[in-house]
Amino acid sequence: MVQKYYVTYNQVHKLCQQSADAILKQFRPHLMIAIGGGGYVPARILRSFLKSPGEPNIPIQAIGLSLYEDLGRGDAEEAIGTKVTRTQWLDLSSLEMANLIGKNILIVDEVDDTRTTLEYAVRELEKDVLEAQKQLGREGEKTNFSVYVLHNKNKPKKGSLPTDMMEDGRYHASVTTDDVWICYPWEAKDIDEHDALAKEHPLV
Ligand code: 5GP
Repeated sequence: MVQKYYVTYNQVHKLCQQSADAILKQFRPHLMIAIGGGGYVPARILRSFLKSPGEPNIPIQAIGLSLYEDLGRGDAEEAIGTKVTRTQWLDLSSLEMANLIGKNILIVDEVDDTRTTLEYAVRELEKDVLEAQKQLGREGEKTNFSVYVLHNKNKPKKGSLPTDMMEDGRYHASVTTDDVWICYPWEAKDIDEHDALAKEHPLV
């Protein structure tokens, strides 16, 4: 059985706090896109630490993605790969998309495992923003995406992120872990038990 490691709300809060300075220095986001459901809580906590006095709060938009095994024509025993579908997305025709143009956008999720989800989110958001720029005649404006996750698992990744994002420091993980299973507090049915397990099996 895979060993599970438990992370508490308190630890999540502190990971966001510890990463906020680096994110502000490297990237200064104008808005966040949280990938649901694991990205919601980290994005909200991070927002408190990214706020500068006198400045408005950084808006948070939500998207939802779900992974499924691609069975090809359906007659194969083995899945031929993992696919991603959008369960929630930004409204392409509305101000939501136009709002992204020319901004520094921080995509937030809880964990980078195989990187399939993040690859999809970055690629599709970049594509949709470019399309919106074309439609609105705003091609000259540069939109920058960056990524924040609480945990990055150190393992061979199936997905990839743009080379310039990795090279320019626009990818930030609070913690790099081994390939373990991480239990987050928002998944817990019994938070006291979860916190007790976090004492027995802490991640760091
Ligand atoms: P990906 O493989 O695309 O990087 O991650 C897909 C999703 O799988 C993540 O957003 C997360 O919801 C889930 N996931 C992957 N690894 C873990 C883990 O260790 N713990 C939990 N709770 N979810 C995980």
